[in-house]
Amino acid sequence: MTILGARPQFIKAATVSRAIARVSKYSEVIVHTGQHYDSNMSDVFFSELEIPKPAYNLGVGGGSHGQNTGRMLEEIEKILLQEKPSIVLVYGDTDSTLAGALAAVKTHIPIVHVEAGLRSFNRRMPEEINRVLTDHMSDLLLTPTEQAISNLSAEGIVGRTVVNVGDVMFDAALYFGQRAELESDVMDKYGLVSKQFYLATVHRQENTDDEFRLKKIFEGFSKIDQPVVLPLHPRTKNSIHQQDIELPSNIHIIDPQGYIDMVMLEKNACVIVTDSGGIQKEAYFHGVPCVTLRDETEWVELVDMGWNRLASPVDDDFVSIFAQSFRGGQEGLTPYGSGTAAEQVVSALDLLS
Ligand code: UDP
Repeated sequence: MTILGARPQFIKAATVSRAIARVSKYSEVIVHTGQHYDSNMSDVFFSELEIPKPAYNLGVGGGSHGQNTGRMLEEIEKILLQEKPSIVLVYGDTDSTLAGALAAVKTHIPIVHVEAGLRSFNRRMPEEINRVLTDHMSDLLLTPTEQAISNLSAEGIVGRTVVNVGDVMFDAALYFGQRAELESDVMDKYGLVSKQFYLATVHRQENTDDEFRLKKIFEGFSKIDQPVVLPLHPRTKNSIHQQDIELPSNIHIIDPQGYIDMVMLEKNACVIVTDSGGIQKEAYFHGVPCVTLRDETEWVELVDMGWNRLASPVDDDFVSIFAQSFRGGQEGLTPYGSGTAAEQVVSALDLLS
């Protein structure tokens, strides 16, 4: 049983669901918690990425972290008791991940955590708490990188049930990246010229809910000498309205994009500026330099390789990081595996039997 609910999880699950469908020994039942519920934050991914239709949709979204996690836990437990799956699969670090893992551990169903072992070491991030707790409840921890294995080992989690399978998002970037070139019309739709715009995303709570940081970020965007295309996350949209933020004239706000169009925008951007975890890596997969609007990152290898620069919005010189042009970093390294992570996830499930 796969438990998911937020945009990045749909993309991760897309590759693994395809790999599960290719083997006959497993069938997959999907539970969607409803954490992300707008059609452009959820439905579009199921149709476009051909993810099997969820058997359950809990409709739990829009509340606080505590409300969401509590309501999800209650509903998922009922489903687990009824369906009695042999394995529960959770992805990443959202409230849906934590609720799924908690419900499974309490009903004694083995938990597989895909994207285990990531750490920002910032306990104020809701995602960090979700990851740490999920890792410590899981029976099989499948990591995207060697760094994640070291992080787990530092917390005493070692052994044959910790496996570096590579990053399922790399598989997605390879597969859907090709499709984007053939299928996407997003560049024409928004009148964009390749390599003559910045692509930006902002949605981390530490940025959206902090008035000072959000203002500084938009101030920073205003100093960029190119158009900045910003697919606007619903949380950021609310914060812009609530905090009455004035948008600079070079900002092009667009709706959240489907994955295929998003990949096309990423490939054609000259620089990506983001606080997203997934997009930092996608920038690297598509050979685009990335500036990360955070104080730290879980994806430290990107910074080490020179593909990613951290630009904390509270630093005085933060805007200057946008201005320093950089073409990217070291080539030829493959910290995220070989594009076969989804198959390796499915093979690793045998370790539980
Ligand atoms: N994404 C998308 N459309 C958008 C913005 C993001 O398809 O308008 C994709 C993006 O390409 C990446 C994933 O959503 O694969 C990242 O999700 P998000 O930034 O919401 O979460 P995070 O990775 O930070 O957990």
